Amino acid sequence: MDDQRTDGGRDDDRASPIPPSTAEDLTWDDTFDVVVVGLGAAGAAAALTAAEAGARVLVLERQGQGGGTSAMSGGILYLGGGTSTQLAAGYDDDPALMRRFLAAALGRPEDDPRLAAYCDGSVEHHDWLVAHGVPFRGEFWPEPGMEPPGTEGLVFTGGEDTAPYADTVRPVPRGHVPATPNAAGGFLMECLLGALAATSAQVRADARVRTLATDATGRVVGVTATVDGTPLAVRATAGVVLASGGWAYNDALVDAHVPEVNRVAWKLGTDADDGWGLRSCLALGARTESMHTAEVALPITPPRDVVRGVLVNGRGERFINEDTYFGHVGQAALMEQDGEVYLLFDEPRYLVNRVGMRATWVCGDWDELAEEVGLPPGSLRSTMTAYNEAAAHGEDPAFGKRADWLVPLDEPPFGAVDLRVGSTIYAGFPLGGVATDADGRVLRDDGDDGDAAVPGLFAVGRVAASLARERYCSGISLGEGTFFGRRAAAAALRS
Ligand SMILES: Cc1cc2nc3c(=O)[nH]c(=O)nc-3n(C[C@H](O)[C@H](O)[C@H](O)COP(=O)(O)OP(=O)(O)OC[C@H]3O[C@@H](n4cnc5c(N)ncnc54)[C@H](O)[C@@H]3O)c2cc1C
Repeated sequence: MDDQRTDGGRDDDRASPIPPSTAEDLTWDDTFDVVVVGLGAAGAAAALTAAEAGARVLVLERQGQGGGTSAMSGGILYLGGGTSTQLAAGYDDDPALMRRFLAAALGRPEDDPRLAAYCDGSVEHHDWLVAHGVPFRGEFWPEPGMEPPGTEGLVFTGGEDTAPYADTVRPVPRGHVPATPNAAGGFLMECLLGALAATSAQVRADARVRTLATDATGRVVGVTATVDGTPLAVRATAGVVLASGGWAYNDALVDAHVPEVNRVAWKLGTDADDGWGLRSCLALGARTESMHTAEVALPITPPRDVVRGVLVNGRGERFINEDTYFGHVGQAALMEQDGEVYLLFDEPRYLVNRVGMRATWVCGDWDELAEEVGLPPGSLRSTMTAYNEAAAHGEDPAFGKRADWLVPLDEPPFGAVDLRVGSTIYAGFPLGGVATDADGRVLRDDGDDGDAAVPGLFAVGRVAASLARERYCSGISLGEGTFFGRRAAAAALRS
């Protein structure tokens, strides 16, 4: 294992760009058409695509084996537009509907070229995954946001069936879960790595890429690495695909751009999510996008019955419809409410959820509870009076919570679950990264001339800015990583 620092620099340098090596100063040890850096889901999809097109492909992976964060994940892929899995589960979908929903949920214009490509290509991408050994079972699982305990293949993962989206876009589940019980990320990677092993692509593990290499024109023409401590310089004639993961574990970058992520109990990633890819692109003038955005899960569900409770902030006021995707709840709780949130129940509606969140305070009336928790006097009484009056009529004029979950909470004792960021599980990772086009080309900001691509360089997976610009849906990361991984490899071979 290689434990050397990427930059060899001081901790306060860890947010700075990593300059490329100069190709004319290097002696190439080997030459390939495509060099892929990192073997998670995005890198595997890129390498598979290039190798199947007949290219000479080298994958350099820093760890002892491929997998990355992808192998630790839930394995959910956000796919739709009418996949055979959706149809088998009884759901009709089309690319325009998928695009309308994602534009609203992720905060992108509907005509965004990357979003359009993703939605238009989603059925084909689903079939490509299936053809490469990733099975999906066409059965719906009604608990949203998380992988099912069984092998059901379809879940809601972005609040599709709740306000504000369900009012304007017909809800369709698009979270596709590979057919294996519980978290499916390891299984997904087994399938992709198995398919890759059947190609001519060469994979070198324990190979940590240190720098990109550029020629006199500024084109990326290769990389330098250390393999088990030995230096290696590899030329890439068609392109370098960066698939080296994100920057959740680079505290300096997180502090600089999305400091809330440094407050969560569980950063979703591995220590290889150190921002090396992002920093290497920055040195080439790459533009970044969405650096302030993060996925933040606050897993109040499952079971979904928990959302009969009421979420309040540090002023004792509601701030969201409780029945939405728990990633939207977590993001609002941490980024908009400063991580000070409580979940209220009355006696009949009290439930301990799957991760064991329990009431910390229990009192005979709302005023006493507000005092115990330390909320403004009278705040819970006035919040709950308004909520209960509307809920009795099956309405939530403030946030549009669905009637299925609207029950007056009026039978004492009343309890509050402590959901402050220091007290319970928040899990998150940054969604910002390098700006890319719909073929994964790394874009730099060339002022009035508009974006120009860095020749020879592609970024996919968490190195690239996510489609999720404002909010997230589970499955987008693996979906976009594999989708744009394929497109980047194909584009490199065309260039
Ligand atoms: C618990 C958990 C659950 C999740 N669930 C889901 C889910 O259900 N659906 C979803 O879409 N997303 C999910 N995510 C997020 C998702 O897993 C990641 O965003 C995604 O896997 C990133 O894929 P990637 O290919 O970009 O990076 P990775 O899978 O992390 O792969 C990057 C690889 O690059 C290697 N590398 C890094 N630096 C170098 C270097 N300098 N040289 C060589 N190699 C290098 C790393 O070792 C790693 O193997 C989850 C994450 C976690 C932790």
